[in-house]
Amino acid sequence: MKGRVTNIQRYSLHDGPGIRTTVFFAGCGLRCLWCSNPESLRNEERIMVFTSRCTGCAACLSIDTDQALTLNGKSLTFDPQKDLAKFIAVCPYKVFVEVNEEVEAEDVANTCLRDRLFYEESRGGVTFSGGEPLLQPEFLKEVVQRLKKEGIHIAIETAGNVGFESFEVIDPYVDLYLYDLKFIDPVQHLRYTGQNNEIILSNLERLIQLKKNIVLRMVLLNGINDTDQEWDKRFDWLKHHSSSFQRIELLAYHNFGEGKYVALGEEYPMKDQKKTDEIRIQEIKGKLESMGFEVHVENAF
Ligand code: SF4
Repeated sequence: MKGRVTNIQRYSLHDGPGIRTTVFFAGCGLRCLWCSNPESLRNEERIMVFTSRCTGCAACLSIDTDQALTLNGKSLTFDPQKDLAKFIAVCPYKVFVEVNEEVEAEDVANTCLRDRLFYEESRGGVTFSGGEPLLQPEFLKEVVQRLKKEGIHIAIETAGNVGFESFEVIDPYVDLYLYDLKFIDPVQHLRYTGQNNEIILSNLERLIQLKKNIVLRMVLLNGINDTDQEWDKRFDWLKHHSSSFQRIELLAYHNFGEGKYVALGEEYPMKDQKKTDEIRIQEIKGKLESMGFEVHVENAF
């Protein structure tokens, strides 16, 4: 069976225990303004244009019949609304890159299995992320079934914005959920992700009831979701779930995805966003620890 994958990243150290391969699935129902993987939002092929690789050789201009490109020396600009795929074949410097290709489940599994020795040595495994991996549940199932036969540890990073049936399809093969929680406040959730969080919270509650292994992940954005208003609600919710999580990960916001927006010809929505406040993240960490949670801060300062 085929599915759409944006990228397969080997030797990941931040997506679950040990050394891992992270498989990024294409397609997501949320539109978080701070998303660092904008190329994986749509379940369709995308062309990314890495203009800094351009040498100005002008080979591409010979087939630019609809003025998609403007070249001034080595300075290339492009119109993202035009057909850019045709330039892949003529550009010798890999300025144009296609992502989100359809791939066979078997091929994805075989790529992951290449690093099984690293997984064994480090107690690592394979993490499926995205995008939202649970939007392609049957394809995901075929990949994880194959990996499970080889005894590979499987983690699913999800924002949970899917019907619970999708969890049921893959759950027998899953060792760990990395569950991303953006907001408890429904109004803020809608405002910053484009979707309601009702199904997200209800799926999380169901996984908790089923006593699944869950790491709760929360990106902290200065002035957006690190406020007292939001955290009073989170602390209140968390105090009813004090033994539900293996640990909580607080992730500092970063703007590493900005270059990808440029390569897609899109505006970066968080241009003016400040870094996560280190004092605030430590304050939240301290409070969570006092509630009995194991807390880890990622992308620290
Ligand atoms: S073919 Fe590639 S390197 Fe040459 S001018 Fe066009 S984009 Fe730049």
